[in-house]
This record gives sequence, structure tokens and C-alpha cells, in this order.
Amino acid sequence: MNKLYPEVKVAPPGPNAQAIIAMDQRHSSPSYIKEYPLVVERGEGAWVHDVDGNRYLDFMAGIGVASTGHSHPAVVKAIHDAADRFLHICGTDFYYDSFSQLCARLASYLPEMGPKRVFLTNSGTEAVEGALKLARHHTRRQYVVAFKGGFHGRTIGAISLNSSKVAQRAFFGPLLPGVIHIPYANPYRCANGCEPYTCGDACNPALALEREWFVNHVDPREVAAIFVEPILGEGGYVVPPAGFLQHLRRICDAHGILLVFDEVQSGIGRTGRMFAAEHFKVMPDILLSAKGIASGMPLGAIIARESVMTWPRGSHGSTYGGNPVCCAAALATLDVVEGLLDSVLATGEVLQRGLRALQSRFPVIGDVRGVGLMVGAEFVAPETREPAGAYVAVLEQLAFRKGLLLLSCGKSTIRFAPPLVVGRHEVDVMLGILEQCLRELPLPATASPQAAVAGVKL
Ligand code: PLP
Repeated sequence: MNKLYPEVKVAPPGPNAQAIIAMDQRHSSPSYIKEYPLVVERGEGAWVHDVDGNRYLDFMAGIGVASTGHSHPAVVKAIHDAADRFLHICGTDFYYDSFSQLCARLASYLPEMGPKRVFLTNSGTEAVEGALKLARHHTRRQYVVAFKGGFHGRTIGAISLNSSKVAQRAFFGPLLPGVIHIPYANPYRCANGCEPYTCGDACNPALALEREWFVNHVDPREVAAIFVEPILGEGGYVVPPAGFLQHLRRICDAHGILLVFDEVQSGIGRTGRMFAAEHFKVMPDILLSAKGIASGMPLGAIIARESVMTWPRGSHGSTYGGNPVCCAAALATLDVVEGLLDSVLATGEVLQRGLRALQSRFPVIGDVRGVGLMVGAEFVAPETREPAGAYVAVLEQLAFRKGLLLLSCGKSTIRFAPPLVVGRHEVDVMLGILEQCLRELPLPATASPQAAVAGVKL
């Protein structure tokens, strides 16, 4: 196959895009973010075409969702075949093959967790919400622990766990009571202010839970669950030190608390393993999946130890969750993703090497981190190492206008989360465009990032 490159023939937004954006801005909810004026007509693999004939290289996969690439033929065929048979019957009340097959398939991953049961949802936030209910129901306890910088979705339970952007919580209260937020273990930005990578496990924030929270504030016998992203997603693509999750596991075992891994972003092959838990050799009691699970069809899953998913008939359900078309898409997606895991690891290494090479020449890149194709580059003011969100905002826009789709996360990180089908060619193209963008950034070391980018023409 010919190697593809981005092609921007009409400066976006072109006339067709502008018409659609105008209609959208008139009628859609003002709460939508709309990062940049990309108006999609179709996609194929890692490539996205807009309505004015431009072609973009996608390194954000629709926020980590297009795992198999855009419109993978095997997934599209599975969707067609399923839609031809029936669109809906309700998996909560009746049976069909793809629903049962998918539950069995998801229960087969992470054998170290032992026998499992699966509840299917329509989204990540519903999986989080269901897990909150399951954890309370199973333990008969009320408190939950979550992490600063964490993101778990947009429903009331999920935003009660969130602690990444205040706008997601502002004026939606009262939120769920009984949520304890502790710092996430971030080796680059230790909560205790240690220099990067010097504190190791000594500053493990999980210690604060046992030394302070469980001594002064909350009896651990009242704590139902710890909700944690094994790799922080929206909070900045942070990979915790090895001991962090193991420590959380020990705390949970000591106090009968359930460990819940929110793998909505890190799961389904994104890190080169089906689930990130495998890298850390720590097994949760409940694992949550969504995003890449069905290549873009709305589906999520609560995967729990059989001994934990004990809620009785009628206690939880969903009209659409595990819709037959979505289940078919998920089964086809898992077939494709299982075949990509090794290449995700290898391509991820090439990606990180390339980003580190840029880091050595552009001191605004403070940290490069990640696993597989879940990679982040944190941008900083070179003198102070303070997060430089202004650079990230401008880089996103510059890259878009050169045909590269990027997305930020956290305060000042660009995430690189392409479809899992990308190879060396796409990584090289991405790095080339990123370098051009970095060259266009005015980077006087002394100016504030905001002042520096003020004059950039988009
Ligand atoms: N959990 C994590 C870790 C996520 O990254 C997200 C979405 O970004 C969610 C939950 C919410 O998923 P959804 O948007 O499908 O509700």
C-alpha cells in the first residue's frame, strides 16, 4: 500500500466545514468543548478526511476510542451483519448470542482475577456509576477513595470521583458524599515536591491513606472501594511508580476494600496488553472498560470477580447496555486488538524514542512518559518546570493546520493515543510535523509561556 501523508488543500475550516460549524454553534449545547474546527467526513485506519477534502493523521483516535482505526473493515462487517439480523431486544431482559459471547470473552482476560462476571453498559461513565453501586451493595459500606487528577466520566457519581477540572463539577452539587481524594503517585510531580524520580516509593501517597485518613478521619471498615486509573488518563497520562498500585492492593486486602481499576482509557490494547493491570502485575476486584472496546460503538463493561458481583436479580440493569450491534462490534474489535498487542508495544517504543529526541532539543518538553501507545509529553516553562498549558494549546492548533490531530490532557500534556494500527511510518510523519510546530513556537526561556505564544499566527 502507498504510504499516506497529511494533505491540507484548504485551510481549515474550509467553506463546507464553516457551514456545518455555523449550524452546530446555533443549535448544539454550549457545554461541548470542540477543540479545533475539524469537521469529519470519513475515516480510514489512522487517517481522517474532512468535508473540504483535507486529510489528517489521527494521533488522538477520537479520544482513545478508534482502537482498530477508523472503520476497520472487519468491525464494519460485523456491525452490518448484526444490524441486518436485529437492532435491539434488551439484554437485561432477554438473551442473544453476541451478548453472552462478549461477557464470556471479557471474563476470559486477566485469569489471575479468578472467575468473573460481566455487566455491559453504554459508556465509561455508566460503568463507573455501576461499579459505585456494586461496591456499595457488595460491601454495605459508604466511603470511596479516588485520586486527585482522576477523571471517571460525567454522571453525578463519576463527577464526584473526578478531580481534574473544576468546570466538570461546578454548580452540579451536591455531589456524592463520602468521597476521599488523595494525590496520585506522579513521579514527575511528586505531591511532596521531591525532584523528579528521586523519591521513589518514599512519597507514595497511598501511605497517607493508612497513616492519616484511616487514623484521623474514616474507619477503613466503612470504605467500600478505591477507584484508580492504573495510568492516569485525562489527568495527564501519568504512569505511577511500580509500587503504587501494589501498595493500594495491600491496603485493600488488609481492610476488605474493593480495588477498582478504571481502565476506560488504558484498556483494550492501548498499552500493548489487553489491560494495563498486566504491566503492573496487580489485579483489581473490579475492572471498568469502554472507549476502545467496540471501536467507537457505544459500549462499556464492568468486569468483576464472581465473588464480588453478587447483586441480585433486578438490582441493576440497562435498556441499551450490550446492544447487539455494539456487542458484534466489540467481538470483532477484540479479535483485531489481540493481534496488535506486540506491535503496539514496539511502535510505542519508537514513539517514545522519537519524543525523547525532540525533548533533548526542545527544553519545553519536560517529561515523556507512557506505555505502548498511551504516551504523554508534558510541556513546561524551561526555567521553572512549571506546567506550560499555553504551549500545548497553541501546538494543538498548529498541528491541526498542518494535518495532524493531537489532543491535550492534564494541565500541560499532549497525549499521543493513535489508533492501535499505526506503525513506524505514521510515527515518523507525526514526529516530523510536531518538530515543525515546535520550531514555530516562540520559546524565549525568560518569557512566560502565555506571553511567548501571544503572537503566534494560526
Ligand atoms: N473513565 C476514564 C478513565 C475516562 O478516561 C473516561 C473518558 O474519558 C471515562 C471514564 C468516561 O467515559 P465516557 O466518556 O464513555 O462516559
